[in-house]
Parts: sequence; C-alpha cells; structure tokens
Amino acid sequence: MRVPHKVQCLNWFILLDRLPTLQMLSMRGVPLLEIECKWCGTGMDALDHIFLHCEVARRVWELCFQWWHLEVVFSQSIGDLLWQCFHGFFTSIEREWWLACCAALVRSLWLARNALMFKGNRFSIREIFFQVRIRSLFWIRAFRESDVIEEL
Ligand SMILES: [Zn+2]
Repeated sequence: MRVPHKVQCLNWFILLDRLPTLQMLSMRGVPLLEIECKWCGTGMDALDHIFLHCEVARRVWELCFQWWHLEVVFSQSIGDLLWQCFHGFFTSIEREWWLACCAALVRSLWLARNALMFKGNRFSIREIFFQVRIRSLFWIRAFRESDVIEEL
C-alpha cells in the first residue's frame, strides 16, 4: 500500500492493537478520570469503537462504501475489516486505490478523534468524509504519478 509512512505505522499499530487509546492507557495503569468515547459518550475510547462501532465511524465507513459503490460490510473488529479490505475482490490497481481510501479513513478518524480530545474541535461526519476523499485522492494521484507521497 502506497501511503505516507506515518499512515502505514498507524495501520500497523491498529493491526497489532498497540494504539494508545484511553482504554489501552487505562489497562496499562495510567490513571484516567474517564475513558469514554468523546464522540458519542456511550462507548469506550477503544480501538474497535473509535474505528468501527462508534456511530461516527460507522457513518464514515458507510459513506466510503457508497462512494465506491460497494455493499456495506462490517466486521467484528477493525483489524478484521482492514483484512477484508486488503483481500477484496478488485483488480490490483483498484485494490491499491481502495486500500488508500481505507488508510485515509483510518487516518482521518484518528486525527478527528485527537482534535476533539486534545483541542475540543468537533468535526462533522461530512467534514471527516471530505478529509477521507481529499487524502485518498491525493495519495492515489501521487501513486499514479510515482511522486513522493507526503503526509496530508
Ligand atoms: Zn463513540
């Protein structure tokens, strides 16, 4: 997958369940007053919730599936969903583009979560989806033109 190195690292942290979510920090003994998801306030700030089960994440995934004219398919975990995306039914070039979109989605959700958690900036679902499209199209263009892919 041709995406910025930072994004590849984020994907690996997710697949290895090593992302510093509030649940992860709490399990490692960091004293926290609350570990709830800042988006919905009902779920936990945990890997699968942030990237899959939270209403915000689900809606962004649904918009991406619609954008690609794909049937909406969800998994039990974000690791399983990314694995499914990797083994999709596309041609190799379409798979590269779809994976860029998935990576952009994960990156955009993580940045939006951090913006809310650390700065109090709440992005709408439409704004997050817009960021997904911009990032993925930027990376796909760079991939096609064999440019150096930079962070976005
Ligand atoms: Zn939530």
